Order: sequence, then C-alpha cells, then structure tokens
Amino acid sequence: MASILLRIGAVLLGTAMMVAQAQAGPWPGGRKAAVVLTYDDALPSHLDIAIPALDAVGLKGTFFLIGSALVPEQIRRWREAAADGHELGNHTIRHACPQANYPPARKLDTSEAYDVEMMLAEIRTMNTMLAAIDGKLQHGFATPCGQHMAGGVDYLPALRASGLVRYTRSAAWTGGKVLDPMDVPCRWFDEKATGAQMIAEVESAARTGDLVVLGFHGVGGDYLRVPGEAHAQLLVYLKEHADTIWVAPLSMVMDYAASRAGN
Ligand SMILES: [Zn+2]
Repeated sequence: MASILLRIGAVLLGTAMMVAQAQAGPWPGGRKAAVVLTYDDALPSHLDIAIPALDAVGLKGTFFLIGSALVPEQIRRWREAAADGHELGNHTIRHACPQANYPPARKLDTSEAYDVEMMLAEIRTMNTMLAAIDGKLQHGFATPCGQHMAGGVDYLPALRASGLVRYTRSAAWTGGKVLDPMDVPCRWFDEKATGAQMIAEVESAARTGDLVVLGFHGVGGDYLRVPGEAHAQLLVYLKEHADTIWVAPLSMVMDYAASRAGN
C-alpha cells in the first residue's frame, strides 16, 4: 500500500500543543483513504433520517450540536446515539455568525456582537452541556458558518491556546496537503447533490490517499438539505468499500493522525 505523506501542522494532545510533521498514512488496516461524515446544527433530520441510515450500514458520524437548538425531548436520543458510537461535537450555544450570513433578517446573536472572551466562554459552557449528554470530558468543535471571527477578531489563536477543544472543523476546502487539526477543512453539498457526486468526492480522496471531511446540514429534511436518497447512496458505497475506505468520527481520525505524528 502506497504510503501517504500528510503534514500535521499542529497536533493537540490534551492541553499541550505539539508541532510535528508526520506520515499519516496508510490509514488503519492499510486502507487507502479516510472519510468523516459530519452533520451540523442538531437538526431533527439527523435523529430521524441520518442516524438511522448510518446505523443501517454500521457507520458512525460526527454531530455538531448547537446548545440553543437542543430540546429536552431529544436529549435521550442524542445520548443513545453517542452510546452507539456516534460522536457529539461542540457548535457553540447560539451559533453566532456574521450578519451577512442572515440577510435580510437582523439577528441579535451575530458574531460582530461577540468578543473573543465571550466566544470561548460559550464554547466552554457548551462542552459542559455535551458532557452532561455523552459523559465525555473532551469534544471537538465546528465553527458556526465556517468562520472564526468574534467582534472582528480571529478567535482561533485563543481557542488553540485554551485547550478547550480537541480539534476544530473549520472553513471550506482549500486544497493542499497541510492538515491542521485546529482548522480542518470540509466539503459541502447543495440541495441538488446526487449520490454520484458525493461518491466522486470520496473516490477522488481514495485516489490520493487523502482524508476527506464531508459536511451536511439537513438530510432529507430541514434546511440546506441534501436528498435523503443521495445520502443513503453514499453510505451504501462506503459500506461496500469498507476494506479500502476508513469511515470514522473526526476525533478518531485526528487521534490516529496524532499517533502517526508521534512515530
Ligand atoms: Zn452550523
């Protein structure tokens, strides 16, 4: 199996930041590529459609929850999903994004109205909420709207220094081979996405021995949704190619990359 050079810019180990360069591949079991399925905003379609679809093929996803979007009736279901091996992650409590993301409505909780301290305090409190649900003491993080500004200041340096989160899934895919666990890129699909398009992304990653993180909002419902059928086709493909493609929650993939970095 061809080895893969994957440079790790910074690896978060506990609260200590270690800078290393590493050979991350081959992936576990000699597989060619790693795929992470991430789902944002704690949407009902995650519980009703995405998780049952994942469970049907035995795959695990990563779900970034917004504290203010959680309702008491769903807590038990999120807890069960975590107990079944799905990962719950931090997506803040109020999902503060720039006003420009919400035209024309005026939002109270814009990222312009925050400062760095407020954002980190919110991430810390969301960690506590997640611990109350899944019992885990550490969580990963996904930036609201793929950006990390608070009051006009980039809060990612402060978040790195804080050790509050294990990793950060951040902006859109920019290409290249530099993997920074605190700024992991993600690929998104629009409402017209087909299963074939999603599979093509995975096949592209498999050809280069790469990691691909796929991002979803609604699945077969809710907003920014991809068709449930397309999502299901992707999962069937991943299941059928389990011998060559590693599908795992993002924390597991980051831990694996960090362990390779330490070799
Ligand atoms: Zn979001």
